[in-house]
Amino acid sequence: MTLFDSPDFDGHEAVHAFADEATGLRCIIAVHSTSRGPAAGGCRMWPFPTSADALQDALRLSRAMSYKNAMADLDLGGGKAVIIGDSRTQKSPALFEAFGRAVEAVGGAYWTAEDVGVSPADLMHARRHTRFVAGLEGHAAASGDPSPVTAEGVFRGISLCVRRALDRDLSGVTVAIQGVGHVGAYLAQKLSAAGARLVITDVNREVLAQVAAQTGAMIVAPDEIFDVEADVFAPCALGGAISAETLPRLRPRIIAGGANNQLADPIIGQTLFDLGLLYAPDYVINGGGIINVAGEIRALDAGQAFDPAWVEGKLSRLMITLEEVLDRSIAERRPTHEVAGEMARERIARGRSALAAQ
Ligand code: NAD
Repeated sequence: MTLFDSPDFDGHEAVHAFADEATGLRCIIAVHSTSRGPAAGGCRMWPFPTSADALQDALRLSRAMSYKNAMADLDLGGGKAVIIGDSRTQKSPALFEAFGRAVEAVGGAYWTAEDVGVSPADLMHARRHTRFVAGLEGHAAASGDPSPVTAEGVFRGISLCVRRALDRDLSGVTVAIQGVGHVGAYLAQKLSAAGARLVITDVNREVLAQVAAQTGAMIVAPDEIFDVEADVFAPCALGGAISAETLPRLRPRIIAGGANNQLADPIIGQTLFDLGLLYAPDYVINGGGIINVAGEIRALDAGQAFDPAWVEGKLSRLMITLEEVLDRSIAERRPTHEVAGEMARERIARGRSALAAQ
């Protein structure tokens, strides 16, 4: 299989491969689109079994970032970097310095940030060789941990869905949360403060007990979360929570959470729609984190301090976009994931035509 024949190739503008013998770096930087601005997306370090697997991930994830950034109304395109390696055993400052040189070689068409297996400390090494790094700590433009902002967006999105589907506020509504890590824990606190009843699960018993103590949530075993009698199911763990196996067990009318790639297969989105369930497309409702990172990119570019008011403006705008997705889904009798995909493509194309007109 070559790059252009890959089913995951979607007219990506550029795909760069870098190898550095001295440090062992092997990385791919995929730039899906720069039509709305420089491509932005995190760097993932993962022990991909083959370079074809790494390429597939880079192609898919960079395209997903184009969609997420467009729906968050950011002047950013979509990109992603993947480093082939085990983050527990193969990290070194020199490796991330080499990664920084790779990002610099892309010439500003791609901004990197952290993702699975990569920390702000790793990115500090990369930053010695490139300025196109966001998600750092300890400087005036720094945006800090994106998770609270992601959780705030998910919280507002759940409120919106509850108002529309159940015609009520969050008080007394039962929300089942799968995964109470960074995003899920902040979300649980916000929902609890708004009077929602919580049922939570996590494979990490320590964080589970901690969040239950803070919020009064009921705990269930990881597999039992799919059978809970709740109004809302909020996937906040890994991808693929909604599958052919789990869907028949789910009771809630609303599916709205922070996890990426919640639908194991896009076809499930049609089934959700046919069953009358309200699904808030993941890359729309969880856009708060990238908005926060974009706030840092904007500040770095302008040589200014991070501006929380700008982030708040974009977050409010994100909720208007989510509402538009839900409206169009009803008006056009189409699943929300399909409507969101179309809107994202329209926004990306508009960026492109605006550039072409210059
Ligand atoms: P995290 O690793 O802090 O939390 C995930 C939690 O899920 C962990 O506590 C983990 O133990 C738990 N978990 C894993 N498998 C589970 C299972 N089978 N059942 C129950 N719990 C399980 O990650 P996070 O930063 O909170 O991100 C959560 C999700 O949200 C991910 O899908 C991530 O890609 C997505 N996301 C995060 C952000 C952000 O700002 N952090 C932004 C957008 C999207």
